[in-house]
Amino acid sequence: MILVVAEHREGKLNRATLETIAAAQVAGGPVKIAVLGSGVDAVAAEVGKAEAAEVVTIDDPALKDYTADGFVLALEQLIAAEKPERVFLPHTYQTRDFAPALAARINRPLVTDCVSVKDGAYVRPMFQGKLQADVAVEGPHLATFQISAYRADAMKNGASAAAVRKASVAIDASKIRQKPEAPFKEAKQAVDLSQAERIVSVGRGIKGQENLQLAQQLAQAMGAEIAASRPICDAGWLPMDRQIGSSGQTVAPKLYVALGISGAIQHLVGMKGARTIVAINKDPEAPIFEIADYGIVGDLFEIVPAMIAELNK
Ligand SMILES: Cc1cc2nc3c(=O)[nH]c(=O)nc-3n(C[C@H](O)[C@H](O)[C@H](O)COP(=O)(O)OP(=O)(O)OC[C@H]3O[C@@H](n4cnc5c(N)ncnc54)[C@H](O)[C@@H]3O)c2cc1C
Repeated sequence: MILVVAEHREGKLNRATLETIAAAQVAGGPVKIAVLGSGVDAVAAEVGKAEAAEVVTIDDPALKDYTADGFVLALEQLIAAEKPERVFLPHTYQTRDFAPALAARINRPLVTDCVSVKDGAYVRPMFQGKLQADVAVEGPHLATFQISAYRADAMKNGASAAAVRKASVAIDASKIRQKPEAPFKEAKQAVDLSQAERIVSVGRGIKGQENLQLAQQLAQAMGAEIAASRPICDAGWLPMDRQIGSSGQTVAPKLYVALGISGAIQHLVGMKGARTIVAINKDPEAPIFEIADYGIVGDLFEIVPAMIAELNK
Protein backbone atom coordinates (compact mmCIF):
# COMPACT_ATOMS: atom_id res chain seq x y z
CA MET A 1 0.00 0.00 0.00
CA ILE A 2 1.15 3.52 -0.77
CA LEU A 3 0.24 6.34 1.58
CA VAL A 4 0.19 9.76 -0.07
CA VAL A 5 0.50 12.72 2.29
CA ALA A 6 -1.66 15.58 1.04
CA GLU A 7 -0.59 19.20 1.38
CA HIS A 8 -2.90 22.15 1.84
CA ARG A 9 -2.81 25.61 3.26
CA GLU A 10 -5.78 27.35 4.84
CA GLY A 11 -8.11 24.84 3.28
CA LYS A 12 -6.66 25.13 -0.21
CA LEU A 13 -5.23 21.93 -1.59
CA ASN A 14 -1.79 22.17 -3.16
CA ARG A 15 -2.09 20.88 -6.72
CA ALA A 16 1.19 18.98 -6.25
CA THR A 17 -0.79 16.57 -4.07
CA LEU A 18 -2.81 15.46 -7.10
CA GLU A 19 0.43 14.94 -9.02
CA THR A 20 1.73 12.77 -6.21
CA ILE A 21 -1.49 10.74 -6.15
CA ALA A 22 -1.01 10.24 -9.91
CA ALA A 23 2.52 8.95 -9.19
CA ALA A 24 1.15 6.51 -6.59
CA GLN A 25 -1.49 5.27 -9.03
CA VAL A 26 1.24 4.63 -11.63
CA ALA A 27 3.42 2.88 -9.03
CA GLY A 28 0.59 0.41 -8.47
CA GLY A 29 -1.12 -1.20 -5.51
CA PRO A 30 -3.73 0.31 -3.23
CA VAL A 31 -3.40 4.02 -2.51
CA LYS A 32 -4.44 5.74 0.70
CA ILE A 33 -4.33 9.48 1.16
CA ALA A 34 -3.49 11.15 4.46
CA VAL A 35 -4.81 14.63 5.24
CA LEU A 36 -3.42 16.36 8.33
CA GLY A 37 -4.60 19.56 9.93
CA SER A 38 -7.46 21.05 11.86
CA GLY A 39 -10.84 21.15 10.13
CA VAL A 40 -9.80 19.16 7.08
CA ASP A 41 -13.15 17.73 5.94
CA ALA A 42 -13.29 19.82 2.76
CA VAL A 43 -9.73 18.92 1.74
CA ALA A 44 -10.40 15.25 2.53
CA ALA A 45 -13.49 15.31 0.32
CA GLU A 46 -11.51 16.98 -2.46
CA VAL A 47 -8.72 14.40 -2.52
CA GLY A 48 -11.34 11.69 -2.05
CA LYS A 49 -12.38 12.20 -5.66
CA ALA A 50 -9.24 10.33 -6.62
CA GLU A 51 -9.28 6.60 -7.22
CA ALA A 52 -8.03 5.53 -3.79
CA ALA A 53 -8.74 2.87 -1.19
CA GLU A 54 -9.54 5.53 1.39
CA VAL A 55 -8.70 8.91 2.81
CA VAL A 56 -7.37 8.94 6.36
CA THR A 57 -7.52 12.19 8.28
CA ILE A 58 -5.72 13.39 11.37
CA ASP A 59 -7.83 16.28 12.56
CA ASP A 60 -6.29 17.88 15.60
CA PRO A 61 -6.09 21.48 16.87
CA ALA A 62 -2.35 20.88 17.43
CA LEU A 63 -2.02 20.65 13.64
CA LYS A 64 -3.90 23.85 12.88
CA ASP A 65 -0.70 25.64 11.94
CA TYR A 66 1.90 23.53 10.17
CA THR A 67 4.94 22.61 12.27
CA ALA A 68 7.59 20.04 11.47
CA ASP A 69 7.27 18.49 14.94
CA GLY A 70 3.49 18.24 14.66
CA PHE A 71 3.67 16.52 11.29
CA VAL A 72 6.40 14.12 12.40
CA LEU A 73 4.46 13.21 15.57
CA ALA A 74 1.26 12.63 13.60
CA LEU A 75 2.72 10.75 10.65
CA GLU A 76 4.94 8.59 12.82
CA GLN A 77 1.82 7.20 14.50
CA LEU A 78 -0.19 6.98 11.31
CA ILE A 79 2.55 5.05 9.52
CA ALA A 80 2.89 2.68 12.49
CA ALA A 81 -0.86 2.03 12.36
CA GLU A 82 -1.37 1.81 8.59
CA LYS A 83 1.93 0.11 7.76
CA PRO A 84 2.32 1.41 4.20
CA GLU A 85 5.20 -0.06 2.23
CA ARG A 86 5.74 3.35 0.73
CA VAL A 87 4.92 6.92 1.66
CA PHE A 88 4.74 9.42 -1.22
CA LEU A 89 4.93 13.17 -0.73
CA PRO A 90 5.07 16.16 -3.08
CA HIS A 91 8.56 17.70 -3.05
CA THR A 92 7.42 21.05 -1.67
CA TYR A 93 9.07 23.42 0.80
CA GLN A 94 6.86 21.99 3.52
CA THR A 95 7.81 18.39 2.73
CA ARG A 96 11.47 19.35 2.65
CA ASP A 97 11.00 20.80 6.11
CA PHE A 98 9.66 17.69 7.85
CA ALA A 99 10.24 14.60 5.66
CA PRO A 100 13.93 14.08 6.57
CA ALA A 101 13.05 14.24 10.29
CA LEU A 102 10.15 11.84 9.75
CA ALA A 103 12.34 9.38 7.84
CA ALA A 104 14.96 9.50 10.57
CA ARG A 105 12.35 9.09 13.31
CA ILE A 106 10.84 5.96 11.74
CA ASN A 107 14.18 4.73 10.45
CA ARG A 108 13.17 4.44 6.81
CA PRO A 109 15.05 5.52 3.68
CA LEU A 110 13.90 8.71 1.98
CA VAL A 111 14.31 9.16 -1.78
CA THR A 112 13.87 12.83 -2.64
CA ASP A 113 13.08 14.83 -5.74
CA CYS A 114 11.95 11.89 -7.90
CA VAL A 115 10.76 12.56 -11.44
CA SER A 116 9.28 9.13 -12.06
CA VAL A 117 8.75 5.69 -10.61
CA LYS A 118 8.89 2.49 -12.59
CA ASP A 119 9.21 -1.16 -11.61
CA GLY A 120 9.65 -0.12 -8.01
CA ALA A 121 12.68 2.07 -8.81
CA TYR A 122 12.81 5.84 -8.77
CA VAL A 123 14.36 8.18 -11.29
CA ARG A 124 15.89 11.32 -9.83
CA PRO A 125 18.13 13.99 -11.33
CA MET A 126 21.65 14.46 -10.02
CA PHE A 127 24.35 17.07 -10.58
CA GLN A 128 21.93 19.87 -11.51
CA GLY A 129 20.00 17.59 -13.86
CA LYS A 130 23.03 16.45 -15.86
CA LEU A 131 22.45 12.81 -14.86
CA GLN A 132 19.34 10.78 -14.13
CA ALA A 133 19.91 8.13 -11.50
CA ASP A 134 17.77 5.01 -11.08
CA VAL A 135 17.38 4.46 -7.36
CA ALA A 136 16.17 1.12 -6.04
CA VAL A 137 15.20 0.85 -2.38
CA GLU A 138 14.73 -2.29 -0.35
CA GLY A 139 11.99 -2.41 2.23
CA PRO A 140 9.52 0.25 3.33
CA HIS A 141 10.54 3.78 2.45
CA LEU A 142 9.47 7.33 1.67
CA ALA A 143 9.73 9.15 -1.66
CA THR A 144 9.11 12.75 -2.68
CA PHE A 145 8.10 13.76 -6.21
CA GLN A 146 9.20 16.89 -8.00
CA ILE A 147 6.52 19.39 -8.94
CA SER A 148 5.23 18.41 -12.41
CA ALA A 149 6.88 14.96 -12.36
CA TYR A 150 3.35 13.69 -12.96
CA ARG A 151 0.43 15.68 -14.23
CA ALA A 152 -2.45 16.48 -11.92
CA ASP A 153 -4.89 15.81 -14.76
CA ALA A 154 -3.36 12.33 -15.18
CA MET A 155 -4.71 11.44 -11.74
CA LYS A 156 -7.51 8.88 -12.05
CA ASN A 157 -10.77 9.75 -10.38
CA GLY A 158 -12.67 7.04 -8.57
CA ALA A 159 -16.09 5.78 -9.72
CA SER A 160 -17.38 7.12 -6.42
CA ALA A 161 -15.87 9.20 -3.63
CA ALA A 162 -13.32 7.39 -1.47
CA ALA A 163 -14.33 6.67 2.11
CA VAL A 164 -12.95 9.13 4.67
CA ARG A 165 -11.84 7.75 8.02
CA LYS A 166 -10.56 9.61 11.07
CA ALA A 167 -7.35 8.04 12.35
CA SER A 168 -7.06 7.61 16.09
CA VAL A 169 -3.85 9.51 16.61
CA ALA A 170 -3.12 11.52 19.72
CA ILE A 171 -0.76 14.45 19.44
CA ASP A 172 0.96 15.74 22.53
CA ALA A 173 1.04 19.46 21.78
CA SER A 174 3.71 20.00 24.45
CA LYS A 175 6.12 18.05 22.24
CA ILE A 176 5.82 20.59 19.43
CA ARG A 177 8.86 22.80 19.77
CA GLN A 178 8.14 25.23 16.94
CA LYS A 179 5.83 28.11 17.71
CA PRO A 180 4.70 29.40 14.35
CA GLU A 181 3.79 33.03 14.07
CA ALA A 182 1.21 34.26 11.58
CA PRO A 183 1.58 31.51 8.99
CA PHE A 184 3.83 32.18 6.03
CA LYS A 185 3.15 35.90 5.89
CA GLU A 186 5.88 36.35 3.35
CA ALA A 187 4.25 33.89 1.00
CA LYS A 188 1.25 36.20 0.87
CA GLN A 189 3.16 38.78 -1.12
CA ALA A 190 5.34 36.24 -2.89
CA VAL A 191 3.89 34.67 -5.99
CA ASP A 192 3.60 30.92 -6.16
CA LEU A 193 4.50 30.38 -9.78
CA SER A 194 4.13 26.62 -9.38
CA GLN A 195 0.36 27.15 -9.52
CA ALA A 196 0.43 29.43 -12.61
CA GLU A 197 -1.23 28.14 -15.77
CA ARG A 198 0.67 30.46 -18.12
CA ILE A 199 4.08 32.04 -17.69
CA VAL A 200 6.00 34.56 -19.76
CA SER A 201 9.64 34.28 -18.78
CA VAL A 202 12.37 36.73 -19.72
CA GLY A 203 16.08 36.24 -20.06
CA ARG A 204 19.10 38.35 -20.76
CA GLY A 205 17.87 38.81 -24.34
CA ILE A 206 15.53 41.47 -22.96
CA LYS A 207 18.66 43.67 -22.70
CA GLY A 208 17.47 46.24 -20.16
CA GLN A 209 15.06 46.72 -17.31
CA GLU A 210 13.19 49.35 -19.31
CA ASN A 211 12.21 46.66 -21.81
CA LEU A 212 10.51 44.50 -19.21
CA GLN A 213 7.26 46.34 -19.84
CA LEU A 214 7.16 44.66 -23.25
CA ALA A 215 7.15 41.24 -21.56
CA GLN A 216 4.62 42.53 -19.01
CA GLN A 217 2.31 43.57 -21.84
CA LEU A 218 2.58 40.13 -23.42
CA ALA A 219 1.90 38.50 -20.05
CA GLN A 220 -1.12 40.71 -19.55
CA ALA A 221 -2.50 39.93 -23.01
CA MET A 222 -2.06 36.21 -22.30
CA GLY A 223 -3.30 36.29 -18.69
CA ALA A 224 0.11 35.00 -17.66
CA GLU A 225 2.46 35.49 -14.73
CA ILE A 226 5.85 37.04 -15.40
CA ALA A 227 9.02 35.15 -14.52
CA ALA A 228 12.70 35.24 -15.43
CA SER A 229 16.04 33.53 -15.69
CA ARG A 230 18.54 34.08 -12.93
CA PRO A 231 20.53 37.00 -14.37
CA ILE A 232 17.36 39.10 -14.53
CA CYS A 233 16.61 38.50 -10.83
CA ASP A 234 20.27 38.85 -9.86
CA ALA A 235 20.23 42.26 -11.50
CA GLY A 236 17.19 43.14 -9.39
CA TRP A 237 15.02 43.76 -12.45
CA LEU A 238 12.47 41.32 -11.05
CA PRO A 239 12.12 40.02 -7.49
CA MET A 240 13.83 36.74 -6.58
CA ASP A 241 10.51 34.91 -6.23
CA ARG A 242 10.09 35.26 -10.00
CA GLN A 243 13.23 33.24 -10.78
CA ILE A 244 12.79 29.90 -12.51
CA GLY A 245 15.40 27.18 -12.22
CA SER A 246 17.55 25.11 -9.95
CA SER A 247 18.04 27.97 -7.50
CA GLY A 248 14.57 29.39 -8.11
CA GLN A 249 11.11 27.95 -8.55
CA THR A 250 10.11 24.79 -10.38
CA VAL A 251 7.02 25.34 -12.48
CA ALA A 252 4.68 23.29 -14.62
CA PRO A 253 2.32 25.65 -16.41
CA LYS A 254 0.25 24.71 -19.42
CA LEU A 255 2.16 27.30 -21.43
CA TYR A 256 5.68 28.68 -20.90
CA VAL A 257 6.90 31.41 -23.22
CA ALA A 258 10.67 31.97 -22.99
CA LEU A 259 11.84 35.33 -24.32
CA GLY A 260 15.58 35.65 -24.93
CA ILE A 261 16.50 32.74 -22.66
CA SER A 262 19.39 30.56 -23.81
CA GLY A 263 18.25 27.40 -22.02
CA ALA A 264 21.05 26.67 -19.53
CA ILE A 265 20.50 23.42 -17.66
CA GLN A 266 19.93 25.30 -14.40
CA HIS A 267 17.03 27.09 -16.06
CA LEU A 268 15.65 24.03 -17.86
CA VAL A 269 15.31 21.95 -14.69
CA GLY A 270 12.84 24.53 -13.41
CA MET A 271 10.51 24.59 -16.40
CA LYS A 272 10.89 21.46 -18.50
CA GLY A 273 7.68 20.10 -17.00
CA ALA A 274 5.63 22.78 -18.80
CA ARG A 275 3.13 21.22 -21.15
CA THR A 276 3.85 23.54 -24.07
CA ILE A 277 7.06 25.53 -24.36
CA VAL A 278 7.39 28.40 -26.80
CA ALA A 279 10.88 29.84 -27.21
CA ILE A 280 11.80 33.08 -28.92
CA ASN A 281 15.51 33.48 -29.45
CA LYS A 282 17.60 35.02 -32.18
CA ASP A 283 20.21 32.25 -31.97
CA PRO A 284 18.99 29.13 -33.83
CA GLU A 285 21.54 27.04 -31.88
CA ALA A 286 20.23 28.11 -28.45
CA PRO A 287 19.71 25.00 -26.27
CA ILE A 288 16.21 26.16 -25.34
CA PHE A 289 15.08 25.01 -28.78
CA GLU A 290 15.94 21.42 -27.87
CA ILE A 291 13.03 21.28 -25.44
CA ALA A 292 10.72 23.86 -27.06
CA ASP A 293 7.50 22.65 -28.68
CA TYR A 294 7.40 25.82 -30.77
CA GLY A 295 10.55 27.72 -31.62
CA ILE A 296 10.66 31.17 -33.13
CA VAL A 297 14.10 32.20 -34.34
CA GLY A 298 14.19 35.96 -34.41
CA ASP A 299 14.41 39.24 -32.57
CA LEU A 300 12.04 39.33 -29.63
CA PHE A 301 11.69 43.10 -30.05
CA GLU A 302 10.00 42.46 -33.39
CA ILE A 303 8.10 39.31 -32.52
CA VAL A 304 6.65 40.20 -29.11
CA PRO A 305 4.92 43.44 -30.25
CA ALA A 306 3.37 41.49 -33.13
CA MET A 307 2.13 38.82 -30.68
CA ILE A 308 0.66 41.46 -28.35
CA ALA A 309 -1.13 43.16 -31.26
CA GLU A 310 -2.55 39.83 -32.40
CA LEU A 311 -3.64 38.79 -28.89
CA ASN A 312 -5.35 42.11 -28.25
CA LYS A 313 -7.45 41.86 -31.40
C1 LIG B 1 24.75 26.99 -9.21
C2 LIG B 1 24.02 27.71 -10.30
C3 LIG B 1 22.64 27.88 -10.17
C4 LIG B 1 21.94 28.54 -11.17
N1 LIG B 1 20.57 28.67 -11.03
C5 LIG B 1 19.88 29.23 -12.04
C6 LIG B 1 18.45 29.32 -11.96
O1 LIG B 1 17.83 28.92 -10.98
N2 LIG B 1 17.80 29.86 -13.00
C7 LIG B 1 18.43 30.31 -14.12
O2 LIG B 1 17.75 30.78 -15.04
N3 LIG B 1 19.76 30.24 -14.20
C8 LIG B 1 20.50 29.73 -13.18
N4 LIG B 1 21.86 29.70 -13.28
C9 LIG B 1 22.50 30.43 -14.39
C10 LIG B 1 22.50 29.69 -15.70
O3 LIG B 1 23.67 28.87 -15.75
C11 LIG B 1 22.54 30.67 -16.89
O4 LIG B 1 23.65 31.50 -16.75
C12 LIG B 1 21.30 31.54 -17.02
O5 LIG B 1 20.13 30.71 -16.99
C13 LIG B 1 21.33 32.27 -18.33
O6 LIG B 1 20.28 33.17 -18.39
P1 LIG B 1 19.73 33.69 -19.79
O7 LIG B 1 19.30 32.55 -20.61
O8 LIG B 1 18.71 34.73 -19.48
O9 LIG B 1 20.99 34.46 -20.39
P2 LIG B 1 21.98 34.06 -21.57
O10 LIG B 1 22.52 32.72 -21.39
O11 LIG B 1 22.89 35.20 -21.70
O12 LIG B 1 21.02 34.00 -22.84
C14 LIG B 1 20.41 35.11 -23.44
C15 LIG B 1 19.74 34.61 -24.71
O13 LIG B 1 19.00 35.66 -25.31
C16 LIG B 1 19.15 35.57 -26.72
N5 LIG B 1 18.91 36.91 -27.26
C17 LIG B 1 19.69 37.99 -27.15
N6 LIG B 1 19.10 39.04 -27.74
C18 LIG B 1 17.91 38.61 -28.25
C19 LIG B 1 16.85 39.22 -28.97
N7 LIG B 1 16.87 40.53 -29.29
N8 LIG B 1 15.78 38.47 -29.33
C20 LIG B 1 15.73 37.14 -29.01
N9 LIG B 1 16.72 36.51 -28.33
C21 LIG B 1 17.78 37.24 -27.94
C22 LIG B 1 20.56 35.07 -26.93
O14 LIG B 1 20.65 34.41 -28.18
C23 LIG B 1 20.73 34.10 -25.77
O15 LIG B 1 20.39 32.78 -26.13
C24 LIG B 1 22.60 29.05 -12.30
C25 LIG B 1 23.96 28.85 -12.42
C26 LIG B 1 24.68 28.20 -11.45
C27 LIG B 1 26.16 28.02 -11.62
